[in-house]
Amino acid sequence: MLTETVFGKQLVSEVEATAQRGGEALVQPVQTVNPNGTSSVVLVCEHATHEIPASFQNLGLSEETRLSHAAWDPGAMAVARGLSSMLDAALVASTVSRLVYDCNRPPSAADAMPARSEVIDIPGNVGLSLQERTARAQTFYEPFRGAVANRMNLTQSPVLVTIHSFTPVYHGQLRDVEIGVLHDADSRLADAMLQTTPSHAGYNVRRNLPYGPEHGVTHTLKEHALGAGHLNVMLEIRNDLIQTETEQSAMAGLIAGWLAQAFALTTEKGAVQCRD
Ligand SMILES: [Zn+2]
Repeated sequence: MLTETVFGKQLVSEVEATAQRGGEALVQPVQTVNPNGTSSVVLVCEHATHEIPASFQNLGLSEETRLSHAAWDPGAMAVARGLSSMLDAALVASTVSRLVYDCNRPPSAADAMPARSEVIDIPGNVGLSLQERTARAQTFYEPFRGAVANRMNLTQSPVLVTIHSFTPVYHGQLRDVEIGVLHDADSRLADAMLQTTPSHAGYNVRRNLPYGPEHGVTHTLKEHALGAGHLNVMLEIRNDLIQTETEQSAMAGLIAGWLAQAFALTTEKGAVQCRD
């Protein structure tokens, strides 16, 4: 699969500055998988990885926390890659942990660089100055935002689909929802997916659960689809269902067929088809 890296002009100077200061290897904050994909679908994975650049010294976290769901969405990128292949769709993904910068949040949001996540304190994010927050947004968020915007612009009748995973146990509570179909003010694609759920899922599929717009999770949808009137949906998959490659591939297959059928119910033009 082809991979390209997008650098904003400002980012290059930021990274060069970092490299000159610390001699650190260059950080590429965003990657686009399958950039020549022919589908109308533009896939986005904001929480693709638990990678923390060396200069952040693991944000003071233990290894266990650094690799936990607090730092990323386990399995989400693997499912997104499967979808990218099956739908022949471009996939834009962040290459750093959401604890460094959560690319599904605007720079003004307090939880873009959270000092606390669920029950865990993030020492490296406590008491950040405005200057530090601005530097992180410029280094990690702006190139990501630019890459998604660019991909949406390059795609005819783009359909934005963001892929996430969530933990089965949150604040000690077991979650019975297995797949969440999330939307903001424009629910056309989510409605079509919920309408076609019975023929695809066999899972406990819910609308706007375990999160919804009230939790600030629809930022990417609002930023890149709502204003321009593009179809969009955010999918949240419970991470215990996508632990192995076999499960990830099966989930990608299920979602690819489900998206194609749901898209056909909408009145939008465009190409959303499975290759196999
Ligand atoms: Zn997520």
